[in-house]
Amino acid sequence: MVETTLVLLKPDCIAQKHSGEVISRFERAGLDIVGCKMLLLSDEVLAEHYAHVADRPFYPELRSFMQQSPVIALALNGEGAVKKVRDLMGPTDSRKAAKGTIRGDLGKDAMTNVVHGSDSPENAAIEVKRFFSDSELFEEELKR
Ligand code: GDP
Ligand code: MG
Repeated sequence: MVETTLVLLKPDCIAQKHSGEVISRFERAGLDIVGCKMLLLSDEVLAEHYAHVADRPFYPELRSFMQQSPVIALALNGEGAVKKVRDLMGPTDSRKAAKGTIRGDLGKDAMTNVVHGSDSPENAAIEVKRFFSDSELFEEELKR
C-alpha cells in the first residue's frame, strides 16, 4: 500500500543540525518528500497532536520542549511509508532504541527523541491533514 505519513523533526534534531542526516535516512529508504515546511507549534495544534498524552504528568515538559524552536514537518510517501518510518525511528525511549535507528543513534531520552512519525495509516491520514493543506502536498506533481 502506498501511503503518506507525517514526520516532525523535533527541536533537538534542528538544534543539533541532524535534519539532513534524518532526511537522508528516509530518502535512502526509498521514501519521497511530498510536503515540507518549518513551523512553530501552537498550544492548540500541540494539544491536538499529542491528545493521547495530554493528561500525562510529563505533558507540560513535552509542550515546552516541542515549542523550544520551530519544527520541520514532512509528508513522506511510499510503499508502507508508515511502518518504514516507524522502523527507521526506533521506539519512543531513545535509551532503549537500537543503534542504527534514528532515535538510537541521535536521541537522548523518552522525550528528546529527534523525530515524530505517525503510528498507523489511520493516524497518518489525520496528521498529514493537520499540518498540510491539499495545495501543499505534491504527490501528483512529482510523478510528472
Ligand atoms: P512516539 O509515537 O514514539 O513518538 O511516542 P508517544 O506517541 O507515546 O509519545 C509522544 C511523545 O511524547 C514522544 O515522542 C516523546 O517526545 C514524549 N514522551 C513519551 N513518553 C514520555 C515520557 O515518559 N516522558 C517525557 N518527558 N516525554 C515522553
Ligand atoms: Mg506517537
